[in-house]
Amino acid sequence: MTRLIFLGPPGAGKGTQAKTLADNCNIPHISTGDILRQAMKEQTALGIKAQGYVDRGELVPDLLVQDMVLERLRQPDVNPGWILDGFPRTVNQASFLEELLQDLNQDSKKVVNLEVPDDVVVTRLLERGRKDDTEEVIRRRLEVYRSETAPLIDYYGDRQQLLVVNGNQSLEEVTSELKKVIVS
Ligand code: AMP
Repeated sequence: MTRLIFLGPPGAGKGTQAKTLADNCNIPHISTGDILRQAMKEQTALGIKAQGYVDRGELVPDLLVQDMVLERLRQPDVNPGWILDGFPRTVNQASFLEELLQDLNQDSKKVVNLEVPDDVVVTRLLERGRKDDTEEVIRRRLEVYRSETAPLIDYYGDRQQLLVVNGNQSLEEVTSELKKVIVS
């Protein structure tokens, strides 16, 4: 049973690695960023509410993303496991998730922190060229990461749930290190 949370700064390669591993394990890759981008594209009520935050590099309010994750983790395809990418991003979201997983009987997860130095992250994001990847928005996303999301490293570290992987290697090297740590 693989239930995995990916932590790491924007541009750490979470999305790519999470997708590869999920395909490998035949389980859903749940990216809150992807769900939000789809909702914005379709202009759903959620998408319309989220748009401004995403465009500015701010976090979408906890309650909105928590509802999305609640809905997603209630679908039957998550029974064999899942990989969460981009959630939780605040301590608040992390405690929500703890309770939700207990309620859904989906506990015993692992958390992987993909470590990548700051300068590498900025270069990678600028190369990626997504709509919210302008230099100003990238800078804001990194600030938000440091103040809101980085505390989760201690949060999960204190709970002895944290695995660390060096994300500053080739795609293949990261994937193979990830495979080793998640079975350990
Ligand atoms: P990502 O694709 O994970 O980089 O997410 C893109 C954007 O979606 C972020 O910059 C946030 O604006 C928003 N977002 C994604 N996940 C979350 C989350 N867990 N909490 C709040 N906002 C989120």
